[in-house]
Amino acid sequence: MEFKEIAVVGAGIIGMTTAYRLSQLGHNVVIIDPELNQHQNCDRYENASKASLGILMGNIFRRSTGRSWRLRQRSMSLWPELMKELYDFDKSIRIDTPLIQLASDKKELELMKELCQERAGLGLKLLDPARDQTIEGSWPKNEYGGLISKNDGRINPHKLLKCLRISLDKLKVKTISTKVISLFRSSQGKQAEWKIMLENREILTKDFIVICSALGSQSLLHKIGHEQQMEAVLGQAIHLTLNDDDQNNWEDWPAVITSNGINLIPLEKNQILIGATLEPGIKPSRSALSKLKSLNGLSPKWIKNVSIKKQWYGIRARPLGQPAPLLKTIEPGLILNTAHYRNGILLAPACAEWVANQIKT
Ligand SMILES: Cc1cc2nc3c(=O)[nH]c(=O)nc-3n(C[C@H](O)[C@H](O)[C@H](O)COP(=O)(O)OP(=O)(O)OC[C@H]3O[C@@H](n4cnc5c(N)ncnc54)[C@H](O)[C@@H]3O)c2cc1C
Repeated sequence: MEFKEIAVVGAGIIGMTTAYRLSQLGHNVVIIDPELNQHQNCDRYENASKASLGILMGNIFRRSTGRSWRLRQRSMSLWPELMKELYDFDKSIRIDTPLIQLASDKKELELMKELCQERAGLGLKLLDPARDQTIEGSWPKNEYGGLISKNDGRINPHKLLKCLRISLDKLKVKTISTKVISLFRSSQGKQAEWKIMLENREILTKDFIVICSALGSQSLLHKIGHEQQMEAVLGQAIHLTLNDDDQNNWEDWPAVITSNGINLIPLEKNQILIGATLEPGIKPSRSALSKLKSLNGLSPKWIKNVSIKKQWYGIRARPLGQPAPLLKTIEPGLILNTAHYRNGILLAPACAEWVANQIKT
């Protein structure tokens, strides 16, 4: 294979995973993002990856056909491989399993039963009602039971990004902490090289550009005549601390519980993460946050006696008029791997592989 000069624009989980994959294959890769060296401890993230909860919901997904299902399944098979590689850089990185999804009504439970029969081979089981009884009072209200997915779970997104950053350094991927201002081609021919103008007016020349810059992708593409419209969808999350007399070690908890569209992730003793809302635009809504905190009215008793340790939000990019994510070669040498509105963490390995295959052929 001929190795290429490639620039990846955007260093969220999608850009980082893509850069990692391409450089592993031997390409000469540079990754560019003004957020590359930015401190992660804030309450607002333009970069959705830093705001994410890191849940990997690959097997609990209603449809069993279509691109989204195929990407999920491909990612689920690539994750263990990626974890083995990243483990060399951080021995504490891991995917915690299982994930439990609670049914909100009888109809949903029936659908879950069907899914279980179809996907027993993928590790889906119905929640045992007897076991359920023993933990009543601790989980969110659970009248109907639900599904256990043995292989779905959660990875800590900050650890993942840190680990990918270390591995990019080891693979000698160049990192440039600035904004890309514009893209253009040196001539109109098929073999024309791509030029990238950085904020400091420096110009880079590359064989391929992979755009992984979420909402920032729109203006870069617009300037060269490609309209890929996206809207912002905000997501809020909270880290709660239970007050002392409500000790909770989460002993009977799985890695993730999802109930009524809200995810709960138990951490160490008395600590829990809850998220994420889906709100149009870029301004967080107070009412969405309070619904999140009360788990849409289904909260267990302990949630009334908590304090907020940290709350934050991030902005996702959702494509308009086409399904997410945008995986496309839009001109020779110009590839899109972006607009991962939801599940970008889950889908990152499969989408990075897709990009690598475009460059191979
Ligand atoms: C609160 C919350 C919880 C979530 N939970 C989950 C979850 O549990 N599981 C899951 O799979 N997904 C989850 N998601 C969704 C997931 O976070 C996204 O799908 C994923 O992070 C998208 O990654 P990305 O790399 O495409 O975008 P981003 O992480 O947004 O990265 C895009 C990057 O592009 C850079 N950029 C933009 N313009 C330019 C430019 N001109 N030049 C250079 N760089 C540029 C930005 O600085 C940014 O760093 C959640 C999202 C939120 C907000």
